[in-house]
Amino acid sequence: MAETADVVVIGGGSTGTSIAWQLARMGAGRVVLLERRGLAAQATGVTAGIVRTHYTHETLARMALRARQVFGNFDDEVGGAAGFRQTGFLALLGPDDVETVAANVAMHRELGINTYILSSDEIREVEPRLALFGIGAAAWEPESGYADPVRTAFSFANAARRHGAELRIGVGADRLDADASGIVGLETNAGYFSTRSIVVANGYSSRNLVASLGIELPLTPIRHAVAFMQRAEHFGKPHPIISDRVAGSYYRPREDGQTMVGKTAPYDGEEDGDADAWPAPRPEVLQTLADRYRRRFPNQGAPAVNYATSGLYDCSPDLQPLIGPVPAVAGLHLAVGLSGHGFKLSPVFSQMLAEQMLTGSSKDFDITMFSPARFIEERPIVPHHAYSISTL
Ligand SMILES: Cc1cc2nc3c(=O)[nH]c(=O)nc-3n(C[C@H](O)[C@H](O)[C@H](O)COP(=O)(O)OP(=O)(O)OC[C@H]3O[C@@H](n4cnc5c(N)ncnc54)[C@H](O)[C@@H]3O)c2cc1C
Repeated sequence: MAETADVVVIGGGSTGTSIAWQLARMGAGRVVLLERRGLAAQATGVTAGIVRTHYTHETLARMALRARQVFGNFDDEVGGAAGFRQTGFLALLGPDDVETVAANVAMHRELGINTYILSSDEIREVEPRLALFGIGAAAWEPESGYADPVRTAFSFANAARRHGAELRIGVGADRLDADASGIVGLETNAGYFSTRSIVVANGYSSRNLVASLGIELPLTPIRHAVAFMQRAEHFGKPHPIISDRVAGSYYRPREDGQTMVGKTAPYDGEEDGDADAWPAPRPEVLQTLADRYRRRFPNQGAPAVNYATSGLYDCSPDLQPLIGPVPAVAGLHLAVGLSGHGFKLSPVFSQMLAEQMLTGSSKDFDITMFSPARFIEERPIVPHHAYSISTL
């Protein structure tokens, strides 16, 4: 016999688990989350987990500020641990972006974000080991840091369970079912679920899933390599997070003496639609990452690569999420297209979506800005102060 649910959430990454938590705590009825492999099995399991507020659009900066508050106070806000570490976040931009950085930092400060522009001397005070070539301007956020994405997703999942949600691990959605009235259910590898409401939160795999309803999502899968570099014994205390948009890489410290290195530009990866593959990065890509890190931190010779992996960005045309209902199919909601920056925002957009689903609108932030329909309506999200290089 078919199971029934008030809402079925598909996907157990940071997106699906946070949405299941928000829906359950807001009283959405019987909430069932389906995860075909394991919690945090895909992008969430490899993310750098950077929680910063430097954004080029005011709403996103406000959302990131709220997210930073959640990560800094996770046990009270969600329950459990997110492993947040406040390291500070330093964004380095080239000479073409000096005025734009100033405009963004001024916008952030208006919102109450603790951030400021650093002179070269001030950069040296923050991180004396950094080589300063190519830098036109630098923005510093002392309160930003990174979280542990796997612990975070597990904590969201446990919070969802505490509020009565059911999590089915090993259960994958195979086909969504709709009639003229909208969503009526879905087929899974564990049988049929009857429901009038589905949240699709399974990253790039969502594209095939909703295609069965004749909906084509504008998502491009870009595979991003990451390398874990061993810092030299004499390096000393970990450096802050550096977003080196001059060289095109981020350097995210770990407490265990390693630094995670990846690329900052969303399209600076390889198009690869196989969401289930887990290919090792090509040697020349690893070399590029290692070279960038060595050049910025020349005091440690040639640090070794310990480990390398990769993960997919599900990039939308404006690099911003698709969150909200699909107008053509009643009961179908999307939370996809996170485009490489969805981890930090997860506790915030999940609340926005749950509020919209349960009350018709979101309280604190404008969810309609992220409507999946914006690409049909030709109203993409446009940054208020865009950099000369492609960034998130
Ligand atoms: C290398 C890298 C670095 C990143 N760094 C950052 C960062 O520093 N800060 C930041 O904010 N963001 C970052 N991101 C982006 C962030 O990781 C993602 O936006 C976020 O984790 C997306 O979570 P998700 O739950 O939507 O997707 P995923 O984590 O991919 O989860 C999707 C889940 O759905 C499951 N699934 C798939 N198909 C089905 C199905 N049919 N039925 C049931 N389950 C299914 C999968 O098994 C998977 O567990 C990074 C991403 C990558 C790849």
